[in-house]
Parts: sequence; C-alpha cells; structure tokens
Amino acid sequence: MKDFNSNSHEWHEKLKKFKDIMYCEACGFEQISVIDTRMVCGVRRRRRICNACGNRTTTYEISREDFERMFEEEEQKGITI
Ligand SMILES: [Zn+2]
Repeated sequence: MKDFNSNSHEWHEKLKKFKDIMYCEACGFEQISVIDTRMVCGVRRRRRICNACGNRTTTYEISREDFERMFEEEEQKGITI
C-alpha cells in the first residue's frame, strides 16, 4: 500500500493539473477562459475562449453517471466511441 501522506504535496500538485486546465486546440496555450455557461438538455454547456489566440471552443459537462449510461447504451448498439 502506498503511503500518500509522505508525498501529499506531490499528489496535490498532480491533482491540480488534472482539475481545471484545458489546452487550446489551436495554439496549445493553457489559459482558457469560460465566457458563457448554460444548461442545455440537462447538460452544462460552456463556451471557452483562449487567452492567447482567441480561439473559441464549446465543451459539454455531464455527470459520470450519465456518461457511463451513455457509454453502455452505445456499447449495446455495437458502436465504439
Ligand atoms: Zn489559443
């Protein structure tokens, strides 16, 4: 069993990286601002803009349960995502 306490700072840094950082698809810059958030069909839709090049992207945020259900349904249809 791994001792998490001895290197908790290291783990914290790793988790921080996973948490909120998105990279711009166009230029790879790591600071992307959310300019608009709204609920669409029960899914949180976010409009994002790159702070470096201004490239705009849209992301959809769904719960893990919804994602897994969706994944299972697709799998039953024989479609691979
Ligand atoms: Zn960019």
